[in-house]
Parts: sequence; C-alpha cells; structure tokens
Amino acid sequence: MEKRVYEVWKGRNNFCLGGRLIFGPDARSILVSASMIIVPVIIFCNFIGKHLLHEFPSYNAGYMIVVAPYLFTIYVLVLLLLTSSRDPGIVPRNLHPPEEELNSVAGGNKTPSIQLPRTKEVVVNGVSVRVKYCDTCMLYRPPRCSHCSICNNCVERFDHHCPWVGQCIGLRNYRFFFLFVSSSTLLCIYVFSMSALYIKILMRDYNGTIWAAMRESPLAVVLMAYCFISLWFVGGLTGFHLYLISSNQTTYENFRYRSDNRMNVYDQGCAGNFREVFCTKIKPSRNKFRAFMQEVHRPPPPATTSRESGGEESGPEDRRVKVEDDMDLGGDLLKVSQRHHDIKDIYSRHHSSSEFDSVLGSDTHDLLNAMNSHVHESRNYAAPMTFV
Ligand SMILES: [Zn+2]
Ligand SMILES: [Zn+2]
Repeated sequence: MEKRVYEVWKGRNNFCLGGRLIFGPDARSILVSASMIIVPVIIFCNFIGKHLLHEFPSYNAGYMIVVAPYLFTIYVLVLLLLTSSRDPGIVPRNLHPPEEELNSVAGGNKTPSIQLPRTKEVVVNGVSVRVKYCDTCMLYRPPRCSHCSICNNCVERFDHHCPWVGQCIGLRNYRFFFLFVSSSTLLCIYVFSMSALYIKILMRDYNGTIWAAMRESPLAVVLMAYCFISLWFVGGLTGFHLYLISSNQTTYENFRYRSDNRMNVYDQGCAGNFREVFCTKIKPSRNKFRAFMQEVHRPPPPATTSRESGGEESGPEDRRVKVEDDMDLGGDLLKVSQRHHDIKDIYSRHHSSSEFDSVLGSDTHDLLNAMNSHVHESRNYAAPMTFV
C-alpha cells in the first residue's frame, strides 16, 4: 500500500482524519484548555445566568444573558481548533543539503568532507539579515523562521510553541491564535461582570452586606475568582500580543533580541503591521500531507527519443534517477546542470517548456534553478559537515 506524506512525516506531529488536520505532539492539552472554557460557562449559565433572566425589562432579551455566552464559547472553540489543527507554516524538509552551497564550497569537485556555511546573509527590505542553516531540515531558514524543538519542524514567522493549544504559533495560525486569546479575554470579562452583577442583585434583594450575598451564592464567588485569575493570564497575553503586532515582532524575536536594540526591518508602521496580521491573505500550506509519496516525487512520462547512442534506450525517468544519484554524492553538479539542459533539449522538440517544468518535479527544478542563479552572500564557517 502506497504511503501518504503524513504517514512518513519526520516531525513529531499528530495527524487526524487522514492527514487533513495536523496537531502538535502535545495536542491533548487542547482538551484541558477547552474544558477550562466550557465548564465555567456551563456553571455560569445554569446556576447564575438563569437568575438574571428576569432582571431585564424585556423577558426575551433576558435570554441573551445565557444564549450569548454559549454562542461566544462555540466561536472561541472554533478559533482554538483553527489554531491547533492547521499547518502553522512548516517549511518542508530537504532530502539533501542545499546543492548551490555545495557547488560553491566544493567548486564542482567531489569532496569527502565539506564545510557548509552555518549562516548566510539575505537582504530584507534593503537590510542584510543573517539566516541560519538547520541541520535537521537541511535548509537555510527563511528570515523569521525558527526550528521548534517540540514539534521538530522549521516554522515560518515562528512566534512560540503554545502548550495550551498544543501547536506551534507561526505564519499561518497567528491570526487565529490572537483572536482565540482576545476572545477568551472577552468571555472572562463577561462571566466576571455578570457574576458580580448577580452578587449586587442579591445584596439588594436581601438588604444585606456583600458577605451575606457571597454566602448566598458561593458559586458566583468561585466564578469571579476563577475569571479574575484567568484575566491576568489571557488579558495580559492579549495586551502583550497587541504590542507585538503593533511593532511587528514575534514573541521569539522579542525575547531573543530585546537586549540587542536591533532595528526591526519588518516594521511598516502601526496600521501597516495590523494590516499584515489581520487583512492579508494567509499563505497556502507548503506541505501536501495527503499526497502520495510518489506524487511528491512524480516521475515524468516516458520519452519517445533518446540522444544517447548505443546500449538500451534511456528515457527521462532513467536520467532523473541518475540526476538524483548525483545529488546524493553532493558533487559534480556541472554534469547535473548539463543533463538538465540535455533533457530540456529533448523535451523542447516534443513538448512545451511548461510541460517540462511540471514533469521535472518542483524540488529538482528548484534545485536546478538555484544552481543556475547567482547567489550573493557572505559566509561564516563553523562546524564541519561530512558527506560520504
Ligand atoms: Zn529545522
Ligand atoms: Zn511546535
């Protein structure tokens, strides 16, 4: 039985519904977080809210006291699910170290031991930014990308790994995470305020002190205390993330670079930063978890001609295998490039060049493009990387 991508996934993720949902390794914490929201709301609606129904002039409007928190809780839980069950922005791992680096380091020769630059400089908004090489994912992390040690993946615009939602917070789920936290804050404020109102009504009805009212409804007191403590947490987090969004920082960058006084190259002004988080289209996932492994490394259709003279006819599929073998060796990239042009020559006689692009497969094509492009960078050599 042919395997799908999520079945041979190297990160520590949990998948549900045949790879449609992706969770972090600590996904069970979602159940704890959800029950910390659901249980207080149920207690409030059943033991406090129902006494408040008649306090409002219009009896039907009074029902909103209990209907509204239920509806809002569903909204908060949907946000929780959207945060924790989608790809946070995982950068797909490379099967091989980046060949353009090997090419420039090895100078086209097969070298048994090659030092790969540990960092390289890329230009972001006209400013040079240093990006690191990830040994696990075998790639140079894009700017703002970091490797999550809990999920074992490189995640774009990595914010932090949230144990409460059991998932990394990154480029593709930050918006939902912020809405989840801020909505939870509003729910907390609502339950706290309504419980306080109930205590006030009890004081009026019984002509008593606050202590007498609290003795009358200990559940309201417990809910107020619970919401007060939770507010420090979710309210504080909402305020902190409002500050981060306004200054276009991630939690990781804030903790890591706070003392460095670095210039923030991503800052577009307060309004622009909010627009970036809330009004831009979320990038599609770079991973096709449900694709079959063969689809990811799709073989090209058989060729009708061959330029090689003598021996058996060799189609592009055979050539591609050879190309990949060469990549395994990590050397002789000029030969690979030559074959790329050879195959393209053959193809251009029978097909359009766009067909050639789709046939070659994106990974190989990216690699060959990278080989043919001129890369400007400065290097910082550190630990050696050995290839056999
Ligand atoms: Zn990584
Ligand atoms: Zn993570």
